[in-house]
Amino acid sequence: PFDVLVVGGGPAGAASAIYAARKGIRTGVLAERFGGQVADTMAIENFISVAATDGPKLVRDLEQHVKEYDVDVNTGVRATHLEPAEQPGGYSTVTLDNGAQLKSKAIILSTGARWREMNVPGEHEYRGKGVAYCPHCDGPLFKGKKVAVIGGGNSGIEAAIDLANIVDHVTVLEFSDVLRADEVLIRKARSLKNIEIIMQAQTTEVVGDGQRVTGLRYTDRQSGDSHDIELAGIFVQIGLVPNTEWLKGAVELSQHGEIIVDERGQTSALGVFGAGDATTVPYKQIIIAMGAGATASLGAFDYLIRSSDN
Ligand code: FAD
Repeated sequence: PFDVLVVGGGPAGAASAIYAARKGIRTGVLAERFGGQVADTMAIENFISVAATDGPKLVRDLEQHVKEYDVDVNTGVRATHLEPAEQPGGYSTVTLDNGAQLKSKAIILSTGARWREMNVPGEHEYRGKGVAYCPHCDGPLFKGKKVAVIGGGNSGIEAAIDLANIVDHVTVLEFSDVLRADEVLIRKARSLKNIEIIMQAQTTEVVGDGQRVTGLRYTDRQSGDSHDIELAGIFVQIGLVPNTEWLKGAVELSQHGEIIVDERGQTSALGVFGAGDATTVPYKQIIIAMGAGATASLGAFDYLIRSSDN
């Protein structure tokens, strides 16, 4: 059994594990894939104090840092069920996809999130080569170029406003005939000369030259006509889905499926904490996930010293 079991091995999980292990308590990590979303990332230029790195390198650095400590790391396994402790000092149980069960006095949930994809030809091929999901991260890579934002919800319109400051021109493609973003954002976007919004546009293909994105193809859903736009980047903003389906009923989730945490990372369940993109913490970024991991780990440690008599 563990004192702290961290479910998820992204930046939040790695930070949680290091903070817990440094307290000299029995710490475990279980992760389907160590590194999480960072493993899918190319350039990282906003991890403060490291001017430039890339995903695979940051994953190796995270792994090495965790290995400095006595942490029991299990990868290639997926948690499928959580049974929270019934009283303070009791054990919570995590069930894995291989049937094994792990017990721990405190649990830190850091299972992250995944970007909803368009599922069109070229999207995977050009991921990181013009297809992007995070404007805060990759916006500056498209300075002075033309880009599209897919999705007219709050994140899409926010992304368009943000990108309009950096890039030459932004085309927003919205599938339906209404923009679901807040009125104040829509007004702001419409006031910017280098943003064009196209409604009822279904993106059908990401077009590239084999190396990088050169454009996209969409169908006008009203006329049925197909159109091509030349551009260098496509920001897909059709939703970020937390990896929390397996937690329904075990901890309280927001209407978007995010784990509800307080300022110490405590969830609705006894001894269960949460950190990173899987939670209600605003703004999903590496540095924020790491900070949240540290918070949740210190929160868990506080819980442990208050709830056990040994
Ligand atoms: P994740 O990184 O999503 O990690 C989740 C972990 O949980 C993984 O180990 C996963 O395998 C595991 N897991 C999930 N479900 C289960 C389960 N049921 N059982 C066991 N394990 C499970 N942020 C920046 O700050 N700068 C950038 O430049 C940047 N670029 C990005 C580029 C891309 C393409 C993407 C997708 C994201 C980018 N981000 C960037 C965002 C950043 O990667 C995330 O905010 C960060 O990784 C969140 O960390 P996390 O630990 O909360 O979750």
